[in-house]
Amino acid sequence: MTGADVRKDFPILQQEINGHPLVYLDNAATSQKPRPVLEAIQRYYEHDNANVHRGVHTLGARATEAYELAREKVARFINAPSPEQVVFTRGTTESLNMIAYGYARRVLQPGDEIVITPAEHHSNLIPWQQAARATGAQLKYLPLQPDGQIRLEDVRQAVTDRTKLVAIAHVSNVLGTIHPVSELAEIAHARGAVLVVDGAQSVPHQPTDVQALDCDFLAFSGHKMCGPTGIGVLYGKRHLLAEMEPTYFGGEMIDVVELYESTWKQPPWKFEGGTPIIAGAVGLGAAVDYLQSVGMENIQRHSQALAAYALERLAEIPEIEVYGPGPGVARGGLVTFNLRGVHAHDLSTVLDAHGVAIRAGHHCCQPLMRILGVPATARASFYLYNTEADIDALVTALTTAKEFFQHAIG
Ligand code: PLP
Repeated sequence: MTGADVRKDFPILQQEINGHPLVYLDNAATSQKPRPVLEAIQRYYEHDNANVHRGVHTLGARATEAYELAREKVARFINAPSPEQVVFTRGTTESLNMIAYGYARRVLQPGDEIVITPAEHHSNLIPWQQAARATGAQLKYLPLQPDGQIRLEDVRQAVTDRTKLVAIAHVSNVLGTIHPVSELAEIAHARGAVLVVDGAQSVPHQPTDVQALDCDFLAFSGHKMCGPTGIGVLYGKRHLLAEMEPTYFGGEMIDVVELYESTWKQPPWKFEGGTPIIAGAVGLGAAVDYLQSVGMENIQRHSQALAAYALERLAEIPEIEVYGPGPGVARGGLVTFNLRGVHAHDLSTVLDAHGVAIRAGHHCCQPLMRILGVPATARASFYLYNTEADIDALVTALTTAKEFFQHAIG
């Protein structure tokens, strides 16, 4: 059950924007929330709210149980060997920064290399830039093919004994390219390097098995997978989380505190200093339940089918240039494009007047925009509740926009 069958679960979708039914195609930025997630958060605050791992009263025990149950659900969702390998964070950005601070800065030496691609989201680029600057390590960029893919032979050449870390998005948030994570893990591990995967655009859309992928770290955000904002996940292999230092120090992450030194709890709790994001975790747990009730294979099939349909329909407008892999190549559930001669922001404004919400801008990928030779692009991104009718509405609005901007298109 996807598309029209699940739309009723998302109250926000039942509204009009500027006199048109809302067509929400900005799911790569954030997804909408189904009723079971909204209800789980409300129920938590109405019945169980207390601080966790502290109070010895009933509510404290219930809140702790709810929080740790959410961790178990997430662990099962990504097939982590144990819930202790799931750290709750604020989102992908925070997870990646925690790896950069707690792990990379400890292991990197001058002359070491970090291999990444120029298509990374700034969240999976700037933390490594900063870690390189702080340690004397260097960034090494993999070349991109014209459609944004990387070639494994280039990876084999780039990853050397100096490489300590390979960091890559599983699915690009701009091009929709899907990177071969398990092959990358094999190449990285053969050189003793660690593979960090930015799963922000993959975990919400396809089944994820961290053991099959053999990635060392995986970062993702709850808000892109039907969960609330402010909660995300850092998965790590057990020995790496044990080795990694906490980024935040304070309440609840400690074992023993002396006047001049302290010791930490075991992972994951040593990384969760202060009052954690309890209701957020409960909401994420409900989101995982919801996604699993629909089925991750179904969601993947649905998003990819919509992306294929969008490619087909956009090809009807010759003034539209589409970026990323062409038809027939597996891609994530999004399509990035430009209308010739028109800035993506102007295009998006006209689409919004027709109730169609897309993302326009550099998508936090400025180096990639430079490679594409554009200041910005438009992006339509799909999720389980979108339908072909949404894409038809996008194309109709684009046709109107084309007439509106005829003078600029020429
Ligand atoms: N990485 C990718 C590929 C993304 O698409 C995003 C968000 O758009 C992020 C990282 C950052 O996610 P967040 O803002 O939830 O931390």
